[in-house]
Amino acid sequence: MLVVSAFFCTSAVSYLAGVRQTDEVARASSPTYHLDISGLHLVLSAGVLGLAIICTLAMLLTAALLLALAAHRRQLRATATGKELTESKALADERRKAELRYRALLEAAPDAIVMVGSNGIIELANAQTEKLFGYTRSELLGQSVDMLVPKTFRERHDEHRQEFFEAPKVREMGKDLDLHGLRKDGTQFPVEISLSPLQTETGILVLAAIRDGTERRKSAKLLREKMTELKRSNDELQQFAYVASHDLQEPLRMVTSYMQLLAKRYKGRLDSDADEFIAYAVDGCNRMKGLIQDLLTYSRAGASGKTVREVTCESALSNALINIRAVIEENGAIVTHDPLPVITADDTQLVQLFQNLVGNAIKYRRDAVPRVHVSAARNGDMEWIFSVRDNGMGIEPQYFEKIFILFQRLQGRQESSGTGIGLAICKKIVERQGGRIWVESQLDEGSTFYFSLPSLAETETK
Ligand code: ADP
Repeated sequence: MLVVSAFFCTSAVSYLAGVRQTDEVARASSPTYHLDISGLHLVLSAGVLGLAIICTLAMLLTAALLLALAAHRRQLRATATGKELTESKALADERRKAELRYRALLEAAPDAIVMVGSNGIIELANAQTEKLFGYTRSELLGQSVDMLVPKTFRERHDEHRQEFFEAPKVREMGKDLDLHGLRKDGTQFPVEISLSPLQTETGILVLAAIRDGTERRKSAKLLREKMTELKRSNDELQQFAYVASHDLQEPLRMVTSYMQLLAKRYKGRLDSDADEFIAYAVDGCNRMKGLIQDLLTYSRAGASGKTVREVTCESALSNALINIRAVIEENGAIVTHDPLPVITADDTQLVQLFQNLVGNAIKYRRDAVPRVHVSAARNGDMEWIFSVRDNGMGIEPQYFEKIFILFQRLQGRQESSGTGIGLAICKKIVERQGGRIWVESQLDEGSTFYFSLPSLAETETK
């Protein structure tokens, strides 16, 4: 054991001294292991010294390592703190930018915006508030919002504020309520206010967007007046059309019957000019009769459009076909239909509608046998779309709208009889019941007239 230690120590000393043990040295020193006990303490001392040096070196190495580690940690920590600092600076920058953006937004808002606490104290106001109420911002901030409310409204305003803070939610005020604002100069003006709650660290605040309601109220009042005026003149016109057409019927009837009497009695007994003139007069009377009847129907379409009840469209169509049976037979027309629904409508007007559309489909025929097909399809839950399709002469697209206007005709009197009122009546009937009417057509191929009527919950296909 000692020998091994001595060998180890020697080797260690040599190694530490930077001496490389050659084979000769090893060989030369090997006798020492067995014989030289006296030099053993020297060798041992050298061993202990070596060991001490190794330990010291190891300790130094460890210390150096620990120091390096600590330095590295410090550096890491320093880097982390630097990073945190940079991050929080960026965050602060971002927050500042966002705040600037919100401020700019607040200032650019078209409405006056005032932020008020539950105690009614103004905590924030934008530029538009200054403009609208005539106060500077420093005059507003920290004051009670009551300064912007006319005395007569203050009590109610307090109640509204309390109500709001009890159940804070976004709400609009002023459109129905008669709210007013009070300017610094004491003048009052109508306002519309929308309130939004704002949760902050100090509690709930109310954000009030205040708009000057003067213009809107003025234009609403103007619109109301115009509507009343329009309704009055419409009613008058309708009344006039009704009375005129109704009252004109009687004298016209008299003129017509006497003209017919003249024609009957004196035809061939006066000269040929007289016969011609009487024929023109009789024709004129007949046309005027048609016109007056159509005008009467038109004015009635508006007046009686409100009496709605459940109507079976199939029976409305068959009543219409009975009314125009002569025309159908004269033209040899074939009228077919799909199953039609039961709807809630004015039945007399529905008959009139089918009568006009099917009548036109036959009247504006081509040489071929007139074929007319009526059908209906549901359009969602809300309405039915009816169609009346013919194989007639068709209509050019530029007239698709025009034909629904009163007195608008595409044919001359020589080509076909008519007053140009039929489709205007249809339009009035449909619109009075909340529907629309339109046409799709190909010249020389045929037309399809569509109209929609609301389908109510109880409406069903027969
Ligand atoms: P009227 O038939 O008395 O002339 P309407 O208002 O019923 O008046 O029709 C207006 C015009 O629309 C008609 O003159 C005709 O030119 C055109 N029209 C209406 N229905 C059809 C149809 N089914 N096919 C082709 N043209 C039509």
